[in-house]
Amino acid sequence: MPESLEDRLDQIRRRIAAACVKAGRAPADVALLPVSKTFDASVIREAVGLGLRRFGENKTQEVRQKAQTLTDLGLQWVLVGHLQTNKVRDAVRHAVELQSLDRLDLAQALDKRLGSEGRTLDILIEVKTSNEPSKAGLAPDELPQFLRQLQSMDTLRVKGLMTLAVNSADEQAVRGCFRLLRLWRDRLRDEGFEQVQRLSMGMSGDFELAIEEGSTEVRIGSALFGQRSYTR
Ligand SMILES: *Cc1c(COP(=O)(O)O)cnc(C)c1O
Repeated sequence: MPESLEDRLDQIRRRIAAACVKAGRAPADVALLPVSKTFDASVIREAVGLGLRRFGENKTQEVRQKAQTLTDLGLQWVLVGHLQTNKVRDAVRHAVELQSLDRLDLAQALDKRLGSEGRTLDILIEVKTSNEPSKAGLAPDELPQFLRQLQSMDTLRVKGLMTLAVNSADEQAVRGCFRLLRLWRDRLRDEGFEQVQRLSMGMSGDFELAIEEGSTEVRIGSALFGQRSYTR
């Protein structure tokens, strides 16, 4: 892995562009969401110096701390991890987007809180595209009903779908997860859910496959910031 953050960012952008070319897509159609969880505010400052403004995190407490430390920078925080219903207040206060909406009671709690603050939140619905027990998300065939239930919640701006592929060395199995998400996005649009556009899929280990399968946004942590240490 290249030494500096700048070199690693450069390398990831080149790999994204190359995957786009291979898939016959425009590199501008695939966004990079840097996932800064576990990395210190100082690392994020460095990333901001390289032009990054929007960061993925998976814990509301960490977002709160970082948002406070980096309050001068006007950053956009995106929650990508499991959100407990009792953490909705912090999520609403600091995040501009949640990519892991996976259940109705969470949607209701968010809508209530957002409503009382007169705010909205961009939403991606997390979908379970593999049989891995550790993976969260709605089953794909629950999506139409769930989307109908969200329609009355004006504060939730549904923009698309998110998934984590199966953790496997089998490229076809990984591709299958991404393909399934895209298929459901297309199906939902055909059924009139036109707000379902974005596909957040692909991480450090599999983002090129995700781009080939139609990802509009890759979430990159370790390939950009380095190995995470969970000891602190
Ligand atoms: C941590 C995390 C990522 C980034 O993972 P890397 O493999 O380090 O790129 C992406 N998405 C979610 C939901 C995560 O929790």
